[in-house]
Amino acid sequence: MSLAAGCPRCTSPVSEQPDGWRCPDHGVITPLWRPSVARYEDLAVHLQQCGHAPTLVPWPLAPGWTITDFGCVSAPGQDARASMLSCHGMSDADGLVELTLVSEEPGVGLGARCAGTDHTDPGAEVGHGPPQARVRIAGATLPLWAVSTSESHGHFDRSVLAGEAHGRWLWLVLRPPSAALLLRDEWSLADLADLGPELVDVPFGGSPPPW
Ligand SMILES: [Zn+2]
Repeated sequence: MSLAAGCPRCTSPVSEQPDGWRCPDHGVITPLWRPSVARYEDLAVHLQQCGHAPTLVPWPLAPGWTITDFGCVSAPGQDARASMLSCHGMSDADGLVELTLVSEEPGVGLGARCAGTDHTDPGAEVGHGPPQARVRIAGATLPLWAVSTSESHGHFDRSVLAGEAHGRWLWLVLRPPSAALLLRDEWSLADLADLGPELVDVPFGGSPPPW
């Protein structure tokens, strides 16, 4: 297995027990499967474990951008409960920009961990007032709202936005926080699984953001 199991919600080492995977802090869990280094060779296993659950990526990637991390929260034979992908690249205004995208069922907690927020799900801010940004997924527009990180550790280093589509949360975590302005251009997101032959040309490399 090229992907290692972890807890979706914390960094504690997990173990496989007769009743399933266990985290010492969160009990029986559906594991988060991640490669030690993001590379094309592990994508096939990742996409297989995702099943019908999408792994979203800004597409096309801007020139020079690379994928730095990916993972999914899944059990054998089932569609992933959550998936995540990080990428980074340079922008004129912000220098190095890091983006993490998480698509997940409510209650998983992976998005909250990547975003560094205190609550498992985005909460009441989503859907309240005018949206801060929009992204396009499969031709449909998805509104996004800012999620406050003001009560979290290191809250000045990132912007968090979230929206809801088809019963799943979509989280976007952007560093530095000013990079959220890049979303004025309404990015298009694609499912890695839908890229077909283009997948071979997807660039990997660089350090993933901390979470
Ligand atoms: Zn845990």
